[in-house]
This record gives sequence, structure tokens and C-alpha cells, in this order.
Amino acid sequence: MTRTQAVMLGSGTPNAEADRAGSGIAIVVDDTPYLVDCGHGVVQRVVEAHARGLINWTTTALAQVFVTHLHADHTVGLADLIFTPWIHGRADRIHALGPAGLKAMVEHILAAYAENTREHLKAHPATPDGCKVEVSGVSGGLCFEDERIRVQALPANHGDLEAYSYKFETPDRCIVISGDTKPTPAFAGWARGCDILIHEVYSSRRFEKLVPAWQRYHSRVHTSADELAALANEVRPGLLVLYHQLFWGATPQALVGEISAAYDGRVVSAVDLHVY
Ligand SMILES: [Zn+2]
Ligand SMILES: [Zn+2]
Repeated sequence: MTRTQAVMLGSGTPNAEADRAGSGIAIVVDDTPYLVDCGHGVVQRVVEAHARGLINWTTTALAQVFVTHLHADHTVGLADLIFTPWIHGRADRIHALGPAGLKAMVEHILAAYAENTREHLKAHPATPDGCKVEVSGVSGGLCFEDERIRVQALPANHGDLEAYSYKFETPDRCIVISGDTKPTPAFAGWARGCDILIHEVYSSRRFEKLVPAWQRYHSRVHTSADELAALANEVRPGLLVLYHQLFWGATPQALVGEISAAYDGRVVSAVDLHVY
């Protein structure tokens, strides 16, 4: 019987937080991980998850990654993803899907590490493909399918960046990850009835204390707690997981409370290395 879980590797934002890595979630089907985003610290979180016995696989299994958009808090760990698991012995190339600019980003990372790659290949000629990356673009609709999982992309609204939400369907579960986005008209119908909705959010209450320029920015490219509560009432997920949370001084409990004030379904605030 298939078992699908979401392992929260990084629940953070661009802001520095002691206990949160940058954005990264592993959708794990049995022992095969499908990584969504790779912010700072995500590869290290895989090492930690394995050391704690939360997962039966480790960094060498990281060979499939879906990128929501190219902001650094979602992609700065890509160099780590390409090279560290290769050092650990990964033999397979990575398949990366994401916005159009992802191919150039990967090519630049590979060029930056050319000397490392040359030396590593001399020392470890048995795994020549372990640092290679095959990049595919995404537009919307079905973007990936194998014997375990079907993945669909939905264009997100994250200002001027090309950005996507992703939906992962397996025999036992449907998990939707918002990425960074302001609510879009298509999202609720697309995500409706999923088992887990992992969604970004900012505090509606603390938003009122921001300076006008930041209010304009965040209300244009992100989702407020009030907006997410309204969205959750349409989607009705089995579990709503708040991630990429802009607290601005609110506690995780208070942020959950902002949602629960207008939504009666199950809501939790994501914690790194929690499994859903
Ligand atoms: Zn972000
Ligand atoms: Zn972003």
C-alpha cells in the first residue's frame, strides 16, 4: 500500500529565523522524495531528518525537484542540492522543473563550480552523472508523471516573477503547495478537497503596523491570514499547514488563531522537520 507524506524541511521566509530553514518540502512516496524548492539549509535538514529516523532515505535520493519561483529564499540551496549529495555518492542526475529562468540559474551554478566538478570527477569517476541537471519548463497543467505520482502546476500570482503552485496526487493522497502567491481566482477550484494544503501566509493583524510601502508590496504578492481563511473555506482541505509565515511579531499560535477565527477546519503552523 502506498504511503505519501510531506516532510517540512524548511518553513522559513527571507527573514532570518533560528529554527527555520529556507523554503523546502519533500513529498515522499514510500521512500522516494519529490522536493519542492530548495532554500538555505534544506539539504542539511535532510541529513537531520535521516539522523533522527524520520526518513529512510538520505541526500543521495534527492533527484527530482520542483521550483515554485526563483526568489533566493526558494533557490539559494540549489548549489547545495547539486553538489553535496554528489559528494555523498548520488549517481543519478537531477531533474528540475520550474520557471523559464531556472535553466540559466542552473547553468550559472554549474559554471561557478566547474573547477570543483573537474577535480571531483577525477577522484570519483564512477558517478559522472551525479552533478548533472536536466531542466524542464513548466506552464500549467500536468507537468510530471511517473509510476508513483502525478504533478500538476498552476500559475501563481507573485508580482513580476513567473511562479507556480504544485499539486501532488498519489494513490493515497493529494497534497497542494501554494509557493509564494497572492490568491488567484483559479486556485480554490484547482485545490478543492485536497488532503493537505500547505500554504504561505502573513499576519493580517500585524500587517496593520507595517509602513505603507511594505503593505503595498505584501498585499500585492502574498496571502494574508484573512484571505487564506476565506480560501480554506472554499478548498476545505483535510489539513491546512501554514508555511512561509510572515509573523511580524505574532506567535505561531496567534497566526493559527487568525485563520481559525474564520475557518473551522484543522490548521497547524509548520515546524521544520515535522511530517504531515
Ligand atoms: Zn519566499
Ligand atoms: Zn517569493
